[in-house]
Amino acid sequence: MTKVRTRMAPSPTGEYHIGHIRTLLYNWAFAKKNKGDFIIRIENTDRERYVEGATDRILDVISDYGLSWDEGPRVGGPYGPYIQSERLDIYQEHAQILLKKKAAYYCFCSEERLAKMREEQKARGVVSTKYDRLCLKLKKQEIEEKLVNKLPYVIRMKVPENKEVTFNDLITGKISISSNNIDDQVLIKSDGFPTYHFAVVVDDHLMKISHVMRGNDWIPSTPKHILLYEAFGWKMPYFAHIPNLKEMGAGKKLSKRFGAVSAREFLDEGYLAEALLNFLMFLGWNPGTDREFYSLEEFIRVFSIEKIHKTDLVAFDRDKLLWMNNQYIQKLTDEDFAQRSLKFAPVGIDKKLLIKLSPLVKSRIKKLSELRQLAGFFFEKPRVDKKMLGKNWVEHLQAAHNIIENLDSWDLENLNDNLMKKIEKKGFKTGDFFMDLRIAIAGSKFTPPINDSIVILGKEETLKRINKILSDK
Ligand code: GLU
Repeated sequence: MTKVRTRMAPSPTGEYHIGHIRTLLYNWAFAKKNKGDFIIRIENTDRERYVEGATDRILDVISDYGLSWDEGPRVGGPYGPYIQSERLDIYQEHAQILLKKKAAYYCFCSEERLAKMREEQKARGVVSTKYDRLCLKLKKQEIEEKLVNKLPYVIRMKVPENKEVTFNDLITGKISISSNNIDDQVLIKSDGFPTYHFAVVVDDHLMKISHVMRGNDWIPSTPKHILLYEAFGWKMPYFAHIPNLKEMGAGKKLSKRFGAVSAREFLDEGYLAEALLNFLMFLGWNPGTDREFYSLEEFIRVFSIEKIHKTDLVAFDRDKLLWMNNQYIQKLTDEDFAQRSLKFAPVGIDKKLLIKLSPLVKSRIKKLSELRQLAGFFFEKPRVDKKMLGKNWVEHLQAAHNIIENLDSWDLENLNDNLMKKIEKKGFKTGDFFMDLRIAIAGSKFTPPINDSIVILGKEETLKRINKILSDK
């Protein structure tokens, strides 16, 4: 049996999308499950869309999600280089093979001529325009002259006529189209770079990729690839096209209007990588049981291509992700919670404070970026809007001050007991009393349990905050 080798082939044309991480995760898990290799290859042959620095950002974010690759940039491997711009001679060599086989030809047509040709075809009612093969008629000598004179050219594939191009997708089943609908695609562009279609086939073959698993938006490209495999006489990999993601309820691809889209943004907002991965596992796959929580190791064990959904799009349920993230946050140790929260707290905040806060906020926080909203009053004095206070606030705060000032031991039980006794004695309404205290201490009606918070805040700081409100009544 051939070794399972899967790959992810990012194009450095922008930020890595959360959907790419899902596709990568499936490829990675499938390779691991089959004791195979997972490869990363950078597809940077589109010079116009190339974004400086994107390759590093993509590789960094993949690592930050806790995923790794067996071969590829930064780690090397036996089939490198793994960056397409470093493989240009390989594509040239392979274009020559097809030229010799008469499966490809030089085309010297100018952009202007091609534009005019397309216009004319459209005017005749042709929907998908095709190259008219003018250059296929060139004689050997004419071609040589043009090459010697350094005329710009591309190399096109000579797509065979009247041929059914068929492949058996592991997910969507048999897909078949007539070669008459396929244009004589460009293989090598006039800048000497290969097109995506050409490079992807050459590299998947040379890198011994056994399974090509990618988003189903690539289905229309696959027949072009099949034709190339056939022209070279190469064995084809298995193809598995997986559903793409859509915004829940919107039926459209993920959009900034609904929240984060790039893989990095999700981490920056305080989603935990392991929660994100667990959530992504289910975007297009299901184990067929009710179980919702999987570690990566467990996922590798249960993942199979057969259980990938045969649907066009899967909904990205942002509420579900928030829920899942909270579940993972709750499971963090206090130490780990504090460590991960540090970057969401103001600079200079002592990690020890975050360790103390952890039990109070873990269950209430859906993403770590909510830390300041929920617990900001631990880091800096709150701005208190006195209009929020109830009508008996002066009495409430005076009583609280009195109790807190005279507490003999500073612990939660003692604080609770004494405040409750006072409330009873004075006949206050418990809810109103604590709401005023909460607003005075935190400036907000929504906080972690207030007595627990006071214990962490300390006697001195608590009294200062109460005094401040009382002093300008
Ligand atoms: N470079 C392509 C991309 O940006 C890879 C597509 C494929 O997996 O073949 O998604």
